Amino acid sequence: MVKQYGPSVALILFAIIIAVWVVEIVIELRGEKPQKQVAVVREEAVFKYGINLNDFKVLNHLVKPNELFSEIFSQYNVTAGAINYFVSKSGEVFNLKKIKAGNSFTVLCEKNDSLMIPKMLVYEESKVNYVVFNLDDSLYMYRGQSSVERKHREVSGVIQSSLYATLEQNNIDPSLAVRMSEIFAWSVDFYKIQNGDKFKIIYDEDMVNGRSVAIGEISAIVFNSGGKDNYAFYYSKDNAHEGDYYDENGNSMKKQFLKSPVKFSRISSRFTIKRFHPVTKIWKAHLGTDYAAAYGTPILATADGVIENAQFKVFNGNYVKIRHNGEYKTQYLHMSKIAKGIRPGVRVRQGEVIGYVGSTGLATGPHVCYRFWKDGAQVDPLHQKLTFADPLPAKYKTDFMTKTKNVSTGLNAITYTEHNIAVQKQMAEDEEEAIGQSEELVRKFF
Ligand SMILES: [Zn+2]
Repeated sequence: MVKQYGPSVALILFAIIIAVWVVEIVIELRGEKPQKQVAVVREEAVFKYGINLNDFKVLNHLVKPNELFSEIFSQYNVTAGAINYFVSKSGEVFNLKKIKAGNSFTVLCEKNDSLMIPKMLVYEESKVNYVVFNLDDSLYMYRGQSSVERKHREVSGVIQSSLYATLEQNNIDPSLAVRMSEIFAWSVDFYKIQNGDKFKIIYDEDMVNGRSVAIGEISAIVFNSGGKDNYAFYYSKDNAHEGDYYDENGNSMKKQFLKSPVKFSRISSRFTIKRFHPVTKIWKAHLGTDYAAAYGTPILATADGVIENAQFKVFNGNYVKIRHNGEYKTQYLHMSKIAKGIRPGVRVRQGEVIGYVGSTGLATGPHVCYRFWKDGAQVDPLHQKLTFADPLPAKYKTDFMTKTKNVSTGLNAITYTEHNIAVQKQMAEDEEEAIGQSEELVRKFF
């Protein structure tokens, strides 16, 4: 009897096993199967403003233009009494009228508080400074400062679309593009950067909570443009003075004079021996170069020197004259205002702001009349063959070579990081080759 039922029982059992197995597969495919292992999620402490943010429900509020402190606070259920209290204490700790559009408030509520009554609000005054408004138990406010961590960074990149985009893609602060263009202003034409140009930079970066807040000192750069390496090393003759950038041989990176005393301007009148003056209506020589720019545009000393004049005169308006050396002097006319601290005898550096564009004196519109003196006579600066600024004096040469040796070795050790596009392209090519090879193998053996 057993023998009779044996095969059918076995068959039924087999069918059940198959059915369960099929159902299990279906459940698994549909993702309905409960997970056997529940991963234990341990919340990491995230410290910001000296507070573990993971203990709270965190909201972020970006200050809108003209938004008032009281409007923001009442929006987050802060009582009128508490708002008045902070306003009354405002003079002692932080002027609440000074909250700026674009800055943010962090609102911290208890995790399971459905009413969202904040325990604390933190105003981020800058990337480093913040103000805490405590609403828990008692009301008080205090200022704090996030700790700034200085990080040494060694980075590189190969330009594929633009320098700016390459920096961003390689996780480098794009403001380094401006710094690089300043350092190499006289040796690399940043308007003619080509794909494949590459760079390596060694610099310090200030970080707050893992975010970059400022670029510190750039100690060395190599910028390869059109196949040519351009080096720049930061070197200070002694600790008392600000340093400068020099090439690998200790030659200055700067020309003796800037091309123009104002950035983002246009030449409205060139140096000429004879011209019709728009105000006096007389044909007269114009012994300067006029740069038209908006009122208030900073005017820069075109070279290092000592202030000789900084005053008002009827025709010149507010003007500054700088003596650079025994040979050259420059003069800047019609300023709306002479910069603070600019007076005779004061030493200025190339690029330092000495005043602001205006139209004081004999001028029709806002511009700076730039006058260039060589051996006591006015000449056209655009026709001068200007040399590179003085190289390092011989006595500093050995020190420069010793100090830059290590950083130069460091620079050479950095490898160029190509952006992913190139890497992916290479991988795709490798894969194609591999597939090709295996197809050939298949053809050989089958
Ligand atoms: Zn002029």
